Amino acid sequence: MGATRTTCAYCGVGCGIAAEVSGNDDRGVVITGDRMHPANHGRLCSKGTHLGETVGLEGRLLAPMIAEREASWDEALGRVADRMRACIAEHGPDSVALYLSGQLLTEDYYAANKLAKGYVGTGNVDTNSRLCMASAVAAYNRAFGEDVVPCSYEDLDATDLVLLVGSNTAWCHPVIWQRLEKTRERRGTKIVVVDPRRTETAEQADLHVAVAPDGDVALFNALLADMKRRSLVDEEYLAAHVEADAGFWEDLSPESGIPDAVFRKLCDLVAAHPRMLTLFSQGANQSVCGTDKGNAITNFHLATGRINRIGAGPFSITGQPNAMGGREVGGLANMLACHLGFAEDERADVAEFWKAPNVCSGPGLKAVEMFRAVHEGRIKFLWVMATNPAVSLPDTGFVREALSRCPTVVVSDIIADTDTGRFAHIRLPALGWGEKDGTVTNSERCISRQRALFPPPGEARADWKIVADVAARMGWGESFAWPDAASVYREYASMTSLAKARGKVLNLTAHADITAAEYEALEPFKWGGERPLAGGYPTPSGKARLVRVTPPAPATNAEFPLRLNTARYRDQWHTMTRTGLSPALSQHRPEPLLEVHPADARAAGLVDGGLGRVETASGASVYRVRVSDGQRCGEVCVPMHWADAMAGEGRSNRLPSRAVDPVSGQPGYKNGAARVVPV
Ligand code: SF4
Repeated sequence: MGATRTTCAYCGVGCGIAAEVSGNDDRGVVITGDRMHPANHGRLCSKGTHLGETVGLEGRLLAPMIAEREASWDEALGRVADRMRACIAEHGPDSVALYLSGQLLTEDYYAANKLAKGYVGTGNVDTNSRLCMASAVAAYNRAFGEDVVPCSYEDLDATDLVLLVGSNTAWCHPVIWQRLEKTRERRGTKIVVVDPRRTETAEQADLHVAVAPDGDVALFNALLADMKRRSLVDEEYLAAHVEADAGFWEDLSPESGIPDAVFRKLCDLVAAHPRMLTLFSQGANQSVCGTDKGNAITNFHLATGRINRIGAGPFSITGQPNAMGGREVGGLANMLACHLGFAEDERADVAEFWKAPNVCSGPGLKAVEMFRAVHEGRIKFLWVMATNPAVSLPDTGFVREALSRCPTVVVSDIIADTDTGRFAHIRLPALGWGEKDGTVTNSERCISRQRALFPPPGEARADWKIVADVAARMGWGESFAWPDAASVYREYASMTSLAKARGKVLNLTAHADITAAEYEALEPFKWGGERPLAGGYPTPSGKARLVRVTPPAPATNAEFPLRLNTARYRDQWHTMTRTGLSPALSQHRPEPLLEVHPADARAAGLVDGGLGRVETASGASVYRVRVSDGQRCGEVCVPMHWADAMAGEGRSNRLPSRAVDPVSGQPGYKNGAARVVPV
């Protein structure tokens, strides 16, 4: 049997994989990079390469469970539907919430969104992508009028200067880094890293700008002020394609917040290289001012005309394999479906398309607010799909308390025992990578297929199918009677006609009649093409917007004087439910480390290799100490992956507060207030 072409399960680079199954019994699979896939041209990183080690059935949830006993699908689905129906009848549709995941395929997202927003009638559908890139979405919406990434990976091959903002690219998006290294070899491309930490990426950069946490807005404003002073603002482009908030130019401060010599170097590089890309990632997004950071970056590119041209633009790089697909179908609380909002005409069109009896009246609760509502008893039925919020949301102590209070928690997952699953009243076995069929969208808007390699294990079902089965039990089966994933995709593609009719870029109507065979053979393609905004911006005026953004006041706190950052390790991903299964991946960093500047370590009495406890207003956790001058003085950093390292310690998401960006609702994982003490 030849190799099956599919897509990696991990990050938003979305690498193509050629997977050769060596035998159906032992689920052995040989993984290589797919040379034909435009995202990676055959390259893979360590996580993708070792995917084959994570597809075993040990620890899998293979049958529906009601509390601790196995149940039939019939009984479990009946129980879910009964509880949901009773909840709606007694407390209204907004007492129901669905918390989804960038792990889901687009077809799964589409089905869940349709069920909640069209049939239950609640806007309470949000996703762990809120934790990853919601600020970039909000920034694009404010600047361009639609959530459209204006760049493509081809730009990585043709740029002269790359600013990596809040991105440890060499570790977190390794194939993008490999591609940039090649471009650097070929064209002499300069690489600048804007990051408070001297990461592995920063060590290989031409310039590391050790910006203060949340200092990016000041930096990009000052950079633009400097370009204006040098007459490098593109007045012609501005006049034709851009409008500015009142007071925009007057407010632009030259105060960069970084040492003058470094700022001068940065400005000189930027002035000399108009073909400039800015890649921004979680370090920018996971902030209480993440949307403003995204707009400071897009402002710079719009004002200098460094957008919609080869090798130039503001490029958000997503963390999850299908955060983008969720954005497209509308699996976020602040959008209805397919880039549509909640205006009367949009709701009416969606109701007609879905033949939906009960389209929700407005936006629902975003992730952090959703769990607050669970805690307060406003949400009484919570369905969590393919994610582990008891480990990944900020202030997990509060989240666990919320889950323990919720009258009905349903968890669809592939793993039997997760921290979140322990709170579930009903667990439903889902298909995992290598078993499910559907589509994902990567950071450059490229849609590609995930294809099944193995038959469904045990009684596991596709997430879209589980949603459809519950819908049928609720009496809505006719609208969810898809025979296969291709039918769900076809319906979604057809629905983008509503976006197209409103002049939006999202448009998959060419696939509105796709056959099952065509879907099976679907080659990777980008919606919107290479330069989706080159023909104009999807705003009422047709112009993009310079959004006035001002730097936040520096956060200080006498009780918790240090700034706490959370980061990712090269070989781990999210809460390790998958990468933790690979012995090879666990060797790189076997335990979570607390990174501390030498001066802070001395002041706190911490020694390299000893143990230190990080304390915040939300919680405390213990780590092995790593003294490092790659940390700025006054700042510490811990990894986000572990749930239960060192006997329950090392669970970093206990520590951040529930403060969120007021526009995007994204939590500020990267700039908390903390103190450290020896153990
Ligand atoms: Fe998978 Fe991301 Fe690595 Fe590509 S870069 S192989 S998508 S984890």
